[in-house]
Amino acid sequence: MPRKQDPFPPMEDRPVTAPANFIRHIVEGDLAAGKHDGRVATRFPPEPNGYLHIGHAKSICLNFGTALEYGGTCNLRFDDTNPATEDEEYARAIEDDVRWLGFDWADRLYHASDYFERLYDYACDLIRAGQAYVDSQSAEDIRATRGTLTEPGRASPWRDRDVATNLDLFARMRAGEFAEGAHVLRARIDMASPNINLRDPTLYRIRRAPHHRTGDRWHIYPMYDYTHCISDALEGITHSLCTLEFEDHRPLYDWVLDQLDVPCHPQQIEFARLELDYTLTSKRKLLALVREGHVSGWDDPRMPTLRGMRRRGYPPAAIREFCDRIGVTKKQTVIEFGVLENCVREELDRNAPRAMAVLDPIKVVITTLPADHLEWLEAPNHPKEPALGTRRVPLTREVWIERDDFMEDPPKKFHRLAPGREVRLRYGYVIRCEEVVRDADGNVVELRCIHDAASGGGQTSDGRKVKGIIHWVSVSAGVALEVRLFDRLFDVPDPAAAEDFRAHLNPESLRVVAAAWGEPALAEHAATTFQFERLGYFCRDAVDAAPARPVFNRTVTLRDTWARLQGDKP
Ligand code: ATP
Ligand code: MG
Repeated sequence: MPRKQDPFPPMEDRPVTAPANFIRHIVEGDLAAGKHDGRVATRFPPEPNGYLHIGHAKSICLNFGTALEYGGTCNLRFDDTNPATEDEEYARAIEDDVRWLGFDWADRLYHASDYFERLYDYACDLIRAGQAYVDSQSAEDIRATRGTLTEPGRASPWRDRDVATNLDLFARMRAGEFAEGAHVLRARIDMASPNINLRDPTLYRIRRAPHHRTGDRWHIYPMYDYTHCISDALEGITHSLCTLEFEDHRPLYDWVLDQLDVPCHPQQIEFARLELDYTLTSKRKLLALVREGHVSGWDDPRMPTLRGMRRRGYPPAAIREFCDRIGVTKKQTVIEFGVLENCVREELDRNAPRAMAVLDPIKVVITTLPADHLEWLEAPNHPKEPALGTRRVPLTREVWIERDDFMEDPPKKFHRLAPGREVRLRYGYVIRCEEVVRDADGNVVELRCIHDAASGGGQTSDGRKVKGIIHWVSVSAGVALEVRLFDRLFDVPDPAAAEDFRAHLNPESLRVVAAAWGEPALAEHAATTFQFERLGYFCRDAVDAAPARPVFNRTVTLRDTWARLQGDKP
């Protein structure tokens, strides 16, 4: 059945919106006051040591969304200061995922590693100003002398090294003369500060590891707190948005910029990170799930990664809507996964073409149709969107229906098929069950039915009412499908709090239906995500798809399957 035209146009993405939040109020205040010459410049600064997850989506939507809202710019900057854990593979995937989510950094792709030379020069400036020194204590000693929340730290014996010695040692650290851990460069701030981040924090450490972009040119690498503020300043960032755990680092962010002759002094503003129930968002733990084979990869549809959600069929517009809906605040809360699923459902309800599939099939033989009967029924692709067009669904003498749409001894209210009862095949005829065929073990294997030939247009031959409508698939013209049904990956709301998150993996998180059936449209059309009528939203798998037997992932269930069906007219 070759089809020239694709009746399913691509999903429409709605425009990006940014709802009001406290950060927008700050930005608007700054604009009104003429700060930063009326510019708004933000950045999204991922470390390329893993794939982006739903938490990052919040930060992406906030940074890019705020810039878009005020005609500003948002940079994509790789915070690539840790050679041990970073990789090009992650960097490429991050770029791809940000674009997929619907954002564009134009030509503003930057790397912290691009600034290594300038960061080094700035560190020398700090040394010359007496504000940084080379400490030769061991890592343990540095930790042990840092003090506690109630006790001040103790000064290093190397704290008062002279500038010339410090510059010389720092240059030799860079040149690779020392082993890892032999020295570090520390800021010289205040060992008695109530804020531990200000007790002479480490700025540089020796790392004898090649970097994925700078190769073996460097033997020292700058720390995050030192790198981040200077990178922001060099890029002319106006508002540096980050998560709450950096609140206590803000005095250090400001201290570094105040000491140095940098082009601008961005304002760091912290917001609450996104936490979702039943979900892990630690990259380290997500990596463990992948490495230990608990999931099939970073793009496993059960993963909270953007890759996984994309493969599962979550539209990017739904993720953006979710980020808008949860808002941006300073109060840490846990969001129910259902909020995200609702956004997915609403988006797909608007845009996903409808199709029929049967996941637990039982055969119906319509004995009043000839063996070679093939009739093409016209069906709308969407109940509310005529623009999505129509498709043709083949009806033949034998069709599959859902096993639980038949009951041998049903209660009165059961409006589906039962011996002697009638039901409408969606878009087709009313059929009545005349005979139940069993195998040797007594299992029902086939239902023999007759059809009301006058019931095609939603009528019946004598005007009688038939309440139930069920979905179905032609046996000879249908396509075999594999369908994967997903549930929460964890069986506790807060797997991150568990001693070992592995103990709380949900053993039922993946159920494979190997022998499902779908109408031909599911194998033929360009659309990838469909509503399987009465069953939920399903997306053709982009990885395991075989042309002969498509694989569909359940994206999300319908809220209330049966109630919706009752509301729908054929
Ligand atoms: P790591 O532990 O490796 O630093 P990370 O989650 O901080 O992990 P980054 O790549 O540094 O990962 O994050 C990039 C940006 O995304 C940061 O600005 C970070 O604040 C933000 N971000 C990360 N996780 C979340 C989250 N759950 N909610 C909101 N923003 C997040
Ligand atoms: Mg980080």
